[in-house]
Amino acid sequence: MLESRLSLWALRLSSGVVSSTALFLVLSACMTLSMPVPAIAHTEVLLSAAVLLPTAAPAAPPAATAPPVLEQQATVLSTPAPSSAAPTSDEAEPALVDAPRRFGFARAFDWSTFQRGNIHAHSNESDGDSDPRAVYLWYRSHGYKFAAVTDHNVFVDPERYRDLERDDFVLLGGEEVTMKGAGRPVHINALCTKQRIAGGTFDTAEAAIESGVERVLAVGGIPLVNHPNFDWGIDEHSLLTARSATLIEIFSGHPSVPGAGDQRHPSHEKMWDSLLTSGRDLMGVAVDDAHHLHPLNEAQSQPGRAWIEVFAATPNRELICDAIGKGMMYASNGAKLDRIAVTHDAYELWPSAADTVVEFVGDGGRVLAKSSTSEVGQRVTYRTEGQETYVRARIVDGEGKRAWTPPVRVTAL
Ligand SMILES: [Zn+2]
Ligand SMILES: [Zn+2]
Repeated sequence: MLESRLSLWALRLSSGVVSSTALFLVLSACMTLSMPVPAIAHTEVLLSAAVLLPTAAPAAPPAATAPPVLEQQATVLSTPAPSSAAPTSDEAEPALVDAPRRFGFARAFDWSTFQRGNIHAHSNESDGDSDPRAVYLWYRSHGYKFAAVTDHNVFVDPERYRDLERDDFVLLGGEEVTMKGAGRPVHINALCTKQRIAGGTFDTAEAAIESGVERVLAVGGIPLVNHPNFDWGIDEHSLLTARSATLIEIFSGHPSVPGAGDQRHPSHEKMWDSLLTSGRDLMGVAVDDAHHLHPLNEAQSQPGRAWIEVFAATPNRELICDAIGKGMMYASNGAKLDRIAVTHDAYELWPSAADTVVEFVGDGGRVLAKSSTSEVGQRVTYRTEGQETYVRARIVDGEGKRAWTPPVRVTAL
C-alpha cells in the first residue's frame, strides 16, 4: 500500500511528464523507509521510462520544490509500513490486504506511424453517386493510405481496381450487410472480405446483428456494427445481448446518423462504454459513410469527415487488415496524434496540436483524468491505479475535432 501510494503520488505530481524531482523525493522516501525491493524496482521502471521517452523533461536538481512535496510526503510517511512479522492468528490477515498488489494494462504498444483510411463508403453499385473507381480515387488523392467501398449487399471486388493501387495506397474488400431487425435497419460492415455476403430480414435487431456478424466472420472478414442510432435500429440492449462484433461506429460523417443520441437514446460513445464495461472488447471507429462525391447540399454524406488511423508500419493490405481486426487504431474526425504508447502501467499520448484536451475514460464512460497540452507534441500520461477495468482516451483539439484511442483492459499482474 505504501509503495503504491508513493508511486501514484509521485506520478500525479508529474502532471504528465515524469518529474525527476518527484522521483528523487520518492526514492529518498523509499530509502529512508528501507522499503522492500519490489517498491524500488517499481520506481526504477518509472525512471527508465522518463529516460526513454523523448519528450521527458530534462533532469532538474532535486531541491527547490521541497516544501509542498515534503508536506505530501509526510502524509504518506505517516502510514505505517506493513509488518514483516509472520502472521500468528486470523487477526493478522489484514496485513495481506496491505501487501503490494500490482496492476497493469493487458496489452502494450507504441505507435507513431499511422495509416489513414476509410472503411465505410458507397458507390453507384448501390446508392452512391459515383462509380467505385472515382470513390477510390477521391481517397487516394486526399492522402488516405487505404479505402474500402462498402455497398449495400453488393461486393465491389477490389481485384477489378488493383491498377489504382500505389506503394502508399491499397484497396480493401468490403460490403455493407444491410438487414432489417424488427422492421428497422441493422447494418453490419464486412471488411477485408473477398466475396458477397448479402442481407436478410429478422424478427429482432439482436438476431440480425448476430447473423450479420457470424456471416462476416465465416468468410474471414472483420465485422463492424454500423450507426446503431440510424433510424434507432440498434439499441443498447440489442448490442449487449447479441453476439459482439469487433468494431462499432461511434462517429459517422453521415448527417442522417444521430450519433449523439437524444433524451431517450444514448450516444454511440456511451453505448461503446456500456459494451466495454460489460466485458466486450470492441474498438470504436469513425467513418465517412460517404455517398456523394458531388453533393447537392450539406445534408448529403460527403467523404473526408471521419476516418481511422491504423497502427501499421507500412500501407500493406495484410498489415492493415490485421491491425483493424485487432482494434489497433485510433479513430478521428479531425484531431491528430503524433504518438500513442501503452506500457504496463502508463497510457501515454502525444497530441499533434497544442491546446488539446485529453480525457482518459473508464468504466461506464467515467472520466478518470483530464489534462490539456500547452505546446505541440507534449506528452499526456495516465497511470493505472488498479481499480479501472479499462482505460481509453478521448482527445478534443482546439477546433473541437475529436479522436478516440483503443480501450486497454487493466488486470492484476
Ligand atoms: Zn448503413
Ligand atoms: Zn453505409
